[in-house]
Amino acid sequence: MIKPAALIKQTSSGGVIFRQSSGQAEIALVSVKGGKAWCLPKGLVDSGETPEMTAVREVREETGLNGNIIGKLGDIAYWYYIRDENVKCRKTVSFYLMEYVSGDTADHDSEVDSAEWFSFEDALARVRYRGDKSIISKALAWIQEDRA
Ligand code: ATP
Repeated sequence: MIKPAALIKQTSSGGVIFRQSSGQAEIALVSVKGGKAWCLPKGLVDSGETPEMTAVREVREETGLNGNIIGKLGDIAYWYYIRDENVKCRKTVSFYLMEYVSGDTADHDSEVDSAEWFSFEDALARVRYRGDKSIISKALAWIQEDRA
């Protein structure tokens, strides 16, 4: 195996945006990799942005949906390899719970293959990464606690 030329760090931010539909809570996921991998919407924190601003912007761009932040759910971290640059990257992503305000998943941008609403149960079954799954579980616990 080739030794990476460098180790870099990236910081992203994203959201679990939810709504009530027919008495059931739903969240929005995006698909990437030709529609095969379902993930939470997220993206790199731009200079001059707070993580909260990035979460709202990335959710709007990737899902077509506008939401208000309710609170922070937590951070996840993972390593990945950037083959073209022979660089290993440690990415940290902060996630926020967001309440849906307006917009339509048909208006997702071209960074993703699709955006769709799912029940929590379906989202947990479908999402590809363990980190996303733990964040979705936290969002579900938060919403259930709020309703109790
Ligand atoms: P960003 O959306 O933050 O701008 P990106 O689209 O450039 O980032 P990532 O989504 O971080 O890049 O994907 C880079 C690599 O990491 C891909 O191989 C992807 O499969 C993998 N990856 C993405 N999300 C996770 C995760 N939650 N856990 C583990 N690996 C992940």
